[in-house]
Amino acid sequence: PNSSIFRTLAKHDPQNLAILHSQSGRSFTYGSLIHDVAAAKDTLWERNGQKSLKGERVAFLAENGYDYVVTFLSILAHDAIALPLSHGFPSSEIRYILENSAAKLFLSTSKFEDKARDVLKEDLNVKPQLEVLTKIDTGATSAENVRFKDKELEQGGFMLYTSGTTNRPKGVVLSTSVITAQANSLIEAWHYTQSDHLLHVLPLHHIHGTINALFTPLIAGATIEFAFPFNAEATWKRLAAPFMAADGGDKVKPISFFTVVPTIYTRLLNSFPALDEGTQKAAKEAISPRNLRLNISGSAALPTPLKKAWTDLSAGNVLLERYGMTEVGMALSCGLDFADRVDGSVGWPLPSVEARLVEAETGQVIKRGEEKDSEGRLREGEIQLRGPTVFSEYWRNPKATAAEFVEADDDGQKWFKTGDVAARTEVSGAGQSDQPWAKGPMYFIKGRLSVDIIKTGGEKVSALEIEREMLSLPQVAEVAVVGLASDQWGQKVAAVVVLTPEGKSAGKGGKPWGPMDMRRALKDRLINYKIPQELKVIESIPRNAMGKINKKALVKELF
Ligand code: ATP
Ligand code: MG
Repeated sequence: PNSSIFRTLAKHDPQNLAILHSQSGRSFTYGSLIHDVAAAKDTLWERNGQKSLKGERVAFLAENGYDYVVTFLSILAHDAIALPLSHGFPSSEIRYILENSAAKLFLSTSKFEDKARDVLKEDLNVKPQLEVLTKIDTGATSAENVRFKDKELEQGGFMLYTSGTTNRPKGVVLSTSVITAQANSLIEAWHYTQSDHLLHVLPLHHIHGTINALFTPLIAGATIEFAFPFNAEATWKRLAAPFMAADGGDKVKPISFFTVVPTIYTRLLNSFPALDEGTQKAAKEAISPRNLRLNISGSAALPTPLKKAWTDLSAGNVLLERYGMTEVGMALSCGLDFADRVDGSVGWPLPSVEARLVEAETGQVIKRGEEKDSEGRLREGEIQLRGPTVFSEYWRNPKATAAEFVEADDDGQKWFKTGDVAARTEVSGAGQSDQPWAKGPMYFIKGRLSVDIIKTGGEKVSALEIEREMLSLPQVAEVAVVGLASDQWGQKVAAVVVLTPEGKSAGKGGKPWGPMDMRRALKDRLINYKIPQELKVIESIPRNAMGKINKKALVKELF
């Protein structure tokens, strides 16, 4: 069953478009993809001195698009471990990853040859052999005469490094069977089909860009259109194009599927007013539920005002929020019915994912029906996961692996500790669809145990919850809530805020809104101990490529 990735790809209609490059308009069918993967596989074999690459790590740098996909799959076809690198990474970061993974080969398209050479100019513990790739696109139009040996792939897969939000990035190997399980789970939940046309604007060294927006649509036989790096205006124009009368629309396919991080939706909304009237009208049509079948948000918490603003602009389309991570792919998701996309919730465990909540203080599993404590408050616990989508170990890091898995009391099967905290409750009106997995209590993420769960004066506070309230103030554009060490309180709540244009003149005498104004505005919304004692206004909050905030670094820098 492990080699089913290639068997599945070979079953797709060879005439169907697999990959499209938004800017150049170049397109590649599934037939040519299969053909070129086979050719690239042979090239790799030659370049490695005709020796087996089974289980070896093969790192690569390629621009987002066809070359990337072919290279990726050709490594998998060798039963090797593909290690996609980000061209956005500084050379030092790539060196860390190459050394940590002990990569045997380092492939680069000619575009990144200089970068690759710069990476290798310093001594590395284990120096991979550099190979510059040429002529990946052979112009083949079909996959005739191409055969992948039907042997089982056992040691291959791909390796991603976690975002490094809480620590040095950890290597996670996702085997081919894990990839297949993750893709099948998403296909069942989100109904990817071969008629879906997905716009891909995400980096490709991260689980969101690789599993949700690349492997799963490939396995479903859909079309993936690359428009990277993300640019708000270009994205709007692309979305709008099929609905612009003058463009003779029908050549450009409407986008049916869009999955990005919250900050990208924010940037799209902010740039909308600057579009001309015609583009605005067409763009609205493009994102309406009639045309954009599915708009998904994840990788970080989706602010409710952002979700609402998108619904208003799109004449009723509702963002679907889901929760996942490098180690597991997607774990929890809201449902396809709009009623199952509840504000602030990440939904239910996806098909084949088993989830439980474990209370940090007591170590107790929160059982069904015991979601509330004696005072009627929702209990919070760490999310733990298991099932065929879960990775098995951190790369050559037995210490981290041992720390992140716990054995179950009942059947001894291990659970992965996500480090994230959530509560769970039934929501009236939700869970009524015919999706069998989208039933029962829904999950609400409270944040990371290590940085978002703040203990102040004996109370436990969720940074995410406070952020949600603060973001609903029209003066607040962005916010990060953190816990600061305090002799008096253990920890105290602090916040870093970016003001909206409105906020910049909302203070006394047209001055920017200040900490006092903010605290006053929060009085009606938050209980006293949740109101930030320290507030800092800054121009923008630093985020990584996936829109995530490194809170530990932020605290170090600002407080
Ligand atoms: P590292 O593990 O290196 O510190 P990271 O956890 O940010 O980095 P990823 O695997 O990219 O690396 O991110 C997974 C994390 O992102 C989750 O554990 C969770 O904290 C957060 N996350 C993902 N989706 C959501 C969501 N919908 N709401 C809130 N948080 C989310
Ligand atoms: Mg993590």
